[in-house]
Amino acid sequence: MLAAFITHADCARHEMGPQHPECPERLGAIHDLLLVKGLLDYMSPYDAPLATPQQLARAHSAMYVQELLASAPTQGHRQVDPDTAMCPHTVQAALRAAGAAVQATDLVLGGEAPAAFCCVRPPGHHAERAAAMGFCFFNNVAVGIRHALDVHGLQRVALIDFDVHHGNGSEDIFRGDERVLMCSIFERGLYPFNGDQATGPNMVNVGLPSRSGSEAFRAAVSEQWLPALEAFRPQLIYVSAGFDAHREDDMGNLGLVEADYEWVTRQLMAVAERHCGGRIVSCLEGGYVLSPLARSVAAHVKVLIGAD
Ligand SMILES: [Zn+2]
Repeated sequence: MLAAFITHADCARHEMGPQHPECPERLGAIHDLLLVKGLLDYMSPYDAPLATPQQLARAHSAMYVQELLASAPTQGHRQVDPDTAMCPHTVQAALRAAGAAVQATDLVLGGEAPAAFCCVRPPGHHAERAAAMGFCFFNNVAVGIRHALDVHGLQRVALIDFDVHHGNGSEDIFRGDERVLMCSIFERGLYPFNGDQATGPNMVNVGLPSRSGSEAFRAAVSEQWLPALEAFRPQLIYVSAGFDAHREDDMGNLGLVEADYEWVTRQLMAVAERHCGGRIVSCLEGGYVLSPLARSVAAHVKVLIGAD
């Protein structure tokens, strides 16, 4: 049984203008390196379906979903915030990205794939219950998690977020939802300028100072995430897999390297093996310099699919 690699050509049609870091080429760079490294030989490819309004409304307000679906420009761009814009293809890409998380959930919980990587954009973890922001429109991972909880009836799901930016959207959606344990590590003082104060007992937020490096990152995982995960005993683990904390990515300054992504994935796999049969669903978030992005994803995926 092979792990799932879920993507869709529509995800590369969304663009926010020339020079925008969240660019369509990100997906091609990842796909090419996974192919060259032979990792795709160990994965089953899937075309992401479109998420339905009902699936989206498990993580977002129904009115927000309706308004976003209706607000795509017919040409040019419509600015959502200073960094985030819709083009005529954005809605279709966002529906595929969220649909990928739903499909990954179905495949992994249905026993058809041991793990899944959703190679999608736009990313999702800044999208709040009723707001698009920070390059994100629908919170893909949150839509997947609510599908696991509300449709498959899971009772305990963990969300791990190692993007260099705090996943404010996921925190907004899961605040007070005791079925979800969210563990995040992010760089303090960066966009979206919050997260230092966890907003509930189901939130393990670790803000690290700039230039913390590998050692501080690994210590935070070992000392703060892993004990919380062990106590929580998740039935499924989701990863908001952002790779912009890499030292070659100028979006942040945490100074991580591929080996850190490999290491953290190994820790998560060990938790997953102990508590949920190794089941992990990982969704791409940030990571903006193509070469370190692709190399970091390859390091993450190699462990995820057991090819290490
Ligand atoms: Zn980020």
